[in-house]
Amino acid sequence: MTDEAISADARLVHAGTQRQAGQPVVQPPVLASIRVSPGEPAAADYGRGGNPTWTALEQALGAAEDAEAVVFGSGQAASMALMLALAPGRDAIVLPVDGYYNARVLADRLRPHGAVPVLADLQDLASIERELIAPGRAAVLWAETPTNPLLRVADLTALGRIAAAAGAPMIVDNTVATGLLQHPLDHGAVASLCSLTKSVSGHSDVILGAVMTRDPALADGLRAWRSLGGGIAGPAEAWLAIRGLKTLPLRIERQSATALTLAGHLAAHPRVRAVHYPGITPGTLAIARAQMPRGFGPLLSFEVDGSAADADAVVAAARLIVPATSFGGVDSTWERRGRWPDETAPDSLIRLSAGIEPPADLLADLDHALRATPA
Ligand SMILES: *Cc1c(COP(=O)(O)O)cnc(C)c1O
Repeated sequence: MTDEAISADARLVHAGTQRQAGQPVVQPPVLASIRVSPGEPAAADYGRGGNPTWTALEQALGAAEDAEAVVFGSGQAASMALMLALAPGRDAIVLPVDGYYNARVLADRLRPHGAVPVLADLQDLASIERELIAPGRAAVLWAETPTNPLLRVADLTALGRIAAAAGAPMIVDNTVATGLLQHPLDHGAVASLCSLTKSVSGHSDVILGAVMTRDPALADGLRAWRSLGGGIAGPAEAWLAIRGLKTLPLRIERQSATALTLAGHLAAHPRVRAVHYPGITPGTLAIARAQMPRGFGPLLSFEVDGSAADADAVVAAARLIVPATSFGGVDSTWERRGRWPDETAPDSLIRLSAGIEPPADLLADLDHALRATPA
């Protein structure tokens, strides 16, 4: 069988698998900061320049998206390297107004390095085009779909076309969908960013991030920022992420199906004012189906018909769903998103990550929790 004949799912199951006689089948974590090196120095002689455990993870992530992967110590470290690598010669970075808030905060902090953050609505294609071609402006388009936490879907094909016409590189934060459900590089993105902390590692025990790209110069630039800036992945974390990656197809298909069931249930619940999920939002359903054909992911959000205190009471009343941030883990979690100071989500919005528990248990827990009122 040639490599091309092997499906991406099968390649993920074999993430980090070795086939050399006498070698361990899975890549063990290499817990060493230096290697024996009597001659010419190589980058990986010192652990900030390379480690066989990340290399195995990068090969697995890259194979799944037909790209080079560069792994970082967190999604934010990956974002920082990507923003810095793309900043020279650019005046603006166009970001979604409703996207992951730490991307906006980070872009603002990196303003002295060149690109000024400009917030825009990715669903308003005319405004994106205006921002990208504004006179005298060289820009980067930092897209995100579905967005965290409002789960709004942007049309990647249309955005890719607008960015290309404007000569602006498009990057896509693909954390919510992962490279299994959505392929930004096939829509013209120069880079796809993923916080591996979420669904990819999938067990709420790792912080890691990665950038996937088919541009070798950008991959080199990212590796340079990684080794100079020091935002490297620990070998133990990389090892856990490889382990998680092997079951990503199973987990995310189950979680997507469950999230769709929960979203439909919540949409009919009298205490719920609005539900946000790509699989039930009529306006963008056709786009979501086209660019996420295998499922809409584990994450949804909904607004309790009431105040922040009402939503807090609901979150606290669950017996199964864990009150916790982050998403994509095997256990269902939820939080009132507005409790974070820089978050701009509506006050009573609860973000829910569907785990792998039987859906009936989760439906019962939701109904129980939605009866709660503030003490
Ligand atoms: C969590 C997250 C990040 C940041 O990743 P970390 O691993 O927490 O640093 C970036 N983008 C999105 C959409 C996220 O949800």
